[in-house]
Amino acid sequence: MRINRNYLQLPENYLFSEVAKRTREFQAHHPEMPIIKLSIGDVSRPLPAVVVQAMKQACSEMGASKTFRGYGPEIGYPWLRTAIADFYQKQCGVKLEADEIIISDGAKSDLSNLLDIFDPQATVAMCDPVYPVYLDTNLMLGRRPKFFRATNANNFLPMPNESVVADIIYLCNPSNPTGVCYNRAQLQQWVDFAREHGSVILYDAAYACFVREPELPRSIYEIDGARECAIEICSFSKMAGFTGVRCGYTVVPKSLVTADGVSLHQLWQRRQSTKFNGVSYIVQRGAAAIFTEQGLTAVAKHLAYYQRNVQMICQTLDKLHWSYVGGKNSPYVWVRCPGMRGAWEFFDFLLRETGIVCTPGIGFGTAGENYIRLTGFNSYANTRAACRRLLDLRQKKKR
Ligand SMILES: *Cc1c(COP(=O)(O)O)cnc(C)c1O
Repeated sequence: MRINRNYLQLPENYLFSEVAKRTREFQAHHPEMPIIKLSIGDVSRPLPAVVVQAMKQACSEMGASKTFRGYGPEIGYPWLRTAIADFYQKQCGVKLEADEIIISDGAKSDLSNLLDIFDPQATVAMCDPVYPVYLDTNLMLGRRPKFFRATNANNFLPMPNESVVADIIYLCNPSNPTGVCYNRAQLQQWVDFAREHGSVILYDAAYACFVREPELPRSIYEIDGARECAIEICSFSKMAGFTGVRCGYTVVPKSLVTADGVSLHQLWQRRQSTKFNGVSYIVQRGAAAIFTEQGLTAVAKHLAYYQRNVQMICQTLDKLHWSYVGGKNSPYVWVRCPGMRGAWEFFDFLLRETGIVCTPGIGFGTAGENYIRLTGFNSYANTRAACRRLLDLRQKKKR
């Protein structure tokens, strides 16, 4: 049997299973100390009521012969694409045609499926540490990516240089796992670099909704020239609690064309209409409800809830004098393991002393070997309890 042997080269997906295993073992030995997960990479707040209402309504329509709908447009219903285009205009002054927005079942699928429209020999560059999907989907194709390292020395915001010239460049902004965010001037450098080298930027904006500082960009299309080199991938997962509902979208501008005039928008549309039959009507109705006044108010509340958690985590880290980045425009905090400890060693220390579960940075790449990732996705009560336990470490140290 001739299988894709590249799958055998994939690093074992052992990070989360190892975290779960160590957590289970700890819990078995310390039933008196309930663990608190500050490792959660999933949302915990329920769907906005207006979204649920819209989906119920859509469900009823599907059950009546007059309003039943079968296959919808492969690239999504126009009313949802228009709602997203209007949102871009209002939120960051970016003008998109509804036609440039293609609805999908989420960012993870799009990030991996987009690779279909590029040459199998195309070269890729991405950050280290990185969202593992970018790396693994390329390894599956037998590619060996180049990395730009996010370190203390570059404020965790690596800038382009000749060593990362590639056909495809991944940017995640604000970043998972580090929680930092490029500003417009920095993104401008990436866009200029991409245009100079004929690269495409795959811009993952899954966390754009967490950007609070007004001087920071919410979309790559706020940057001059991005319409000629960038594809933006976004999702309602983190923004509106859609991780279990599944809906996202990808923006491929019509002005994004190869040197010989081939439109990437055409290719992506062709790819999607051949291999995908679109997102369910019910889900798209739910997604459209996000952009109503009620929906946007509910989303703002959710985001504020997570932001309060992450702010509390940052204040706690400040008191402990542990150095970290992120948290300000992101649900993620990237914490330097105090005392130069390795990520797993520090993971064990935190679990043992506080019952807190974190994510070892090494799971995102070698640049994460002395870091852990904390998130604001747990409940307020649990996050507050975790912060108290962290502060108690100071007392323990003195004793
Ligand atoms: C959560 C996340 C996504 C969203 O993925 P979906 O498939 O839409 O749920 C995309 N990119 C990053 C970096 C993420 O962390």
